[in-house]
Order: sequence, then C-alpha cells, then structure tokens
Amino acid sequence: MRAQVLERPGEPLRAVELPDPEPGPGELLLRVRACAVCRTDLHVVDGELPHPKLPLVPGHQIVGEVLAGERFPVGTRVGVPWLGWTCGECRYCLGGQENLCDRARFTGYDLNGGYTELAVADERFCFRLPEGYDDVGAAPLLCAGLIGYRALRLAGDAETLGLYGFGASAHLVCQLAVHEGRRVFAGTRAEDAEAQAFARSLGAVWAGDALAGPQEELDAVVVFAPVGALVPAALAHVRKGGTVVCAGIHMSDIPSFPYELLWGERSVRSVANLTRRDGEELLALAPAVPLRTEVSTFALEDANAALARLRAGDLRGAAVLVP
Ligand SMILES: [Zn+2]
Ligand SMILES: [Zn+2]
Repeated sequence: MRAQVLERPGEPLRAVELPDPEPGPGELLLRVRACAVCRTDLHVVDGELPHPKLPLVPGHQIVGEVLAGERFPVGTRVGVPWLGWTCGECRYCLGGQENLCDRARFTGYDLNGGYTELAVADERFCFRLPEGYDDVGAAPLLCAGLIGYRALRLAGDAETLGLYGFGASAHLVCQLAVHEGRRVFAGTRAEDAEAQAFARSLGAVWAGDALAGPQEELDAVVVFAPVGALVPAALAHVRKGGTVVCAGIHMSDIPSFPYELLWGERSVRSVANLTRRDGEELLALAPAVPLRTEVSTFALEDANAALARLRAGDLRGAAVLVP
C-alpha cells in the first residue's frame, strides 16, 4: 500500500510502499477513503510531542470501509479517532475517564494512522458514521468535531462563548454552540479578516482580534490556537466564575500573569483526548444540527503540502487527504 510516513520528527513525510497490514484479533481491516489532517499531526511531525512510534503513518481522523472484521459487516463505513486503545483497568478507565488512561494508545501517534490506503484499528474504538456526510465531509468530525464537542461540554452552560483560534475545530463548535442558542465570539489573529468573515458566516456575533477580545464579558472561552499568550488574554475576557478551556494537545508556554486575572473564581483547564461516549454523542448530534464541515481536499501524495498550509494558517475549515 502507498503511505506517507514520518521517519524522523522535523523532517517531511516520505511517500513509501508498505506491506498491507494484517488485522489482529478484534481489529478491523479498513480501506481508507479519507483522512482529515489535525493540528496534532503537525505537532507530531514537527517533534513537539515526545516519543511517537517511528516510523509512523500519521492521521487520526480516518473514514474507512470495513474489508474484514467482526463488529461491523464488511462494507460498513466507520470512523477511527485519536483514542485507539485503552487498558480498561486503570483508575481512569474504571472511572469513566478513559480519555486519561495511563496506558492509552493513540492513532497516528502510538499506532499507525490514516495517511495511507489501508489501516487496521481496534474495532471497539471505531464508530459507525452518520448518513448525510460524504467521506471527505465526515472525516473532520472525528477529531476537530469530537475534541471540540468535549471542549464545549467542559465550557459548561456558557451563554456567551469565546472561540479563540478559528480553524477546523472552532468552525464546528461554532455551529454546535449557535444551535444550542449560545452567542459565539470568534477570536483570530488581528489581521485575519478571512477567518473573521468565515466565523460570522457560521453565526458568530463578533469576530476580531483574540488578544484584544470583545467589548462584552464572556462566560467562557475555548482556546484552540496553540498560543500560550491567549490564556491570560482569555482570563481577562471572562467574567467572575468563568472558565478558560485549552483544547489543544500542545501550546507555547503561558506567560506569567497577575493573580488578579484568575481571582474571582475563574478557572483554567485543559481538554485531553476523547472518550468513546463523546464520539457516540457528537456523531448522533451532527446530522441533527446539521453540522456542515468545510474542507479542502488533498491527494495522499500531497500530505506535506496540506501540513504546510495548516502550519501557515492558510486553510479555511479542515484539510482532508484522499488516497
Ligand atoms: Zn486505562
Ligand atoms: Zn486531532
């Protein structure tokens, strides 16, 4: 099979031919129909996340057709997310927080992912995908959508909600939040008029410079951009008792800030990974909203170009690779 492979972090992916994978017990063999590109892939490729499996096939938003396996009939279209395996016996797994499992394995990081033609995945962690989405349109739901959904839940019942960093995840969370009757304030880089217009087109009531923030006090802010300086900025924009949720897996250092910004029972928290329950909930909700995914498609061979566009902030919505 053709695959894009990371051999050494910091270097571009290489196009290689790999032997077809053999599914083990409890695994599905999948023909990859689409795989969305996530900012986490960029962190892995750039060496900002420690100890990836090497060589590695990245990609953890896989839409695949079942070629072999037990849980789903052959021909079923399933999604493979970031959470690829958990131990099932640690305190987190037993306590309903499998996203924090001590021994979790992640797709496209500890396990080979979807920048390829064929993939294997533990069938217990795969989702049946909703009708009404084509392969390319469904792919971004699997991380941009899922992690965004979890971040939105952790933001509580905020009526005024900031989304700072308006990329693949925020463009879906914005639609969910508007659907739930919240008012969305989209923070971007000051000069990014295109992202601001995109946010307004999806229902944001304000779009502008995230560091400066809106005039109005917010109940919560979800920070998607990997920019630590946005954390004290967001704290300054939330009301007493408000929450700042950091949704990325990696962020530049958070600059020191006066305690006054945290005072008043404001809180800062992160979102880590996803549970299978998050996935079931979001995939049931998506067609009901209905969530519309904005995508740019790339050939598998153009994975490095897709990553470069993401790195440059030069993408509207999500990039999706099609083998
Ligand atoms: Zn565990
Ligand atoms: Zn992701």
